[in-house]
Amino acid sequence: MSFSLSAKYDSLSAFLESRAPNEPEFHQAVSEVIDDIKPIIDQSDAYKAANIFERLVEPERMISFQVAWQTDAGEIEVNRGYRVQFNGAIGAYKGGLRFHPTVNPSVLKFLAFEQTFKNALTGLPMGGAKGGSDFDPTGRSEAEIMRFCGAFMQELHRHIGPDIDVPAGDINVGGREIGYLFGAYRRITGHFQGVLTGKDESYAGSAMRTEATGYGVMYFLSDMLEAHDDGLDGKTVIISGAGNVATYAAEKAIALGGKVISLSDSSGFVHDPEGLTQEKIDWVRAHKSKPGASLQPYVDKFGGDWSEGKTPWGLEGDIAAPCATQNELDGDAAKTLVKNGIKAVIEGANMPSTTDAKEVFQSKKVLFAPGKAANAGGVAVSGLEISQNRKRQSDDAEDIDASLRTIMSNIHAACVEEGKRDGHVDYTKGANVAGLRKVADAMVAQGVA
Ligand code: NDP
Repeated sequence: MSFSLSAKYDSLSAFLESRAPNEPEFHQAVSEVIDDIKPIIDQSDAYKAANIFERLVEPERMISFQVAWQTDAGEIEVNRGYRVQFNGAIGAYKGGLRFHPTVNPSVLKFLAFEQTFKNALTGLPMGGAKGGSDFDPTGRSEAEIMRFCGAFMQELHRHIGPDIDVPAGDINVGGREIGYLFGAYRRITGHFQGVLTGKDESYAGSAMRTEATGYGVMYFLSDMLEAHDDGLDGKTVIISGAGNVATYAAEKAIALGGKVISLSDSSGFVHDPEGLTQEKIDWVRAHKSKPGASLQPYVDKFGGDWSEGKTPWGLEGDIAAPCATQNELDGDAAKTLVKNGIKAVIEGANMPSTTDAKEVFQSKKVLFAPGKAANAGGVAVSGLEISQNRKRQSDDAEDIDASLRTIMSNIHAACVEEGKRDGHVDYTKGANVAGLRKVADAMVAQGVA
């Protein structure tokens, strides 16, 4: 496809190399939406006149800061903290914080870019952002994690607020870290306000936020299967990851009649041919809450097989749900899954499938739900947490779960509506186009300074 979105560049790669050199993950995320959004922009005089493309791929603001903190041994360590406020056209910025050694501007820009589309799909007024640090919590004591969170907030508090930017958790930032971050914010500013989501219910958190991403993934999968005259009941599900998204996706898959046969972490994967149960999932959550704990002892406790350093994509199953991290499922893994008869792939993580893997699934007409649609349940319930904080009220779990179910169905319907392609539904196109229209319309309406 010729690239005519910007008169200044001959190709998308020339544009990205010039504007964002050495940012492979960000290039990947933009390249993967361009074929879907380009025709929509090309057809709209208003979008072209507003130069929507160039504005959509440039963060509105990127903050990078020093985080100096003290270890238990009294040594001072220095990490780098970031907040990328990508697009605020439809609401205050919203997106998670990730603590992982792989965090860098490219990873955060890709995540914040995807978050912009995802937040738009929820139908709630939230702009796209992402942040975090290259801090590695593995092997750190609880006191060190608390001090790190305090030091991180020492700078971040200047850039966030209920009407500005409301961060949440992501990899290695769960309920405990959100608590430390919120405590630090409150002590620094003196304000108790809804400046973070994913808070505990004891201090203005929302029911169901912990479960929301994983449950939402399986709600979306149910809708996708139902739209294709199928269902989750009796299906074998291969899940990667062993964190928040993976374990709640597993829990809901089982509740909806599926048999989950794997979980994984950065040290390898468990194959449990008997299928996971609630008891096994509860054990995984408790065990994995210890910093640096490997999933390997699962097999000593419950049986099954452990494969060190491998991913679960060689297993046979009906559904694959990558729920760990970006680019964890490559083209070869996709070919193996297809050979083994996979029916649907649902992304719980953000961009877990490589571009090659997506091409394999698309060419073989495997049902494929991209993360920006399938895992939007987490940020959707974060949006509901913001509303509850505004009202100074708490809704009960049943109501929140019902709202989550409705939001996921609405996202599914939007993907079907916008994703029609050659007699089938291309969910990626649907998510990209539906997200774009909402954000671009708001950008056009607001003009430029
Ligand atoms: P957690 O930190 O709770 O869990 C992450 C899991 O992924 C862990 O099992 C971890 O293993 C594994 N993992 C991390 N990096 C790698 C790697 N390089 N290779 C293999 N395994 C890895 O994070 P979440 O469950 O919250 O997030 C998982 C994914 O879902 C991320 O892509 C995140 O952006 C996305 N997401 C999360 C949302 C949320 O609400 N939490 C919302 C929407 C998307 P180990 O324990 O060994 O590190």
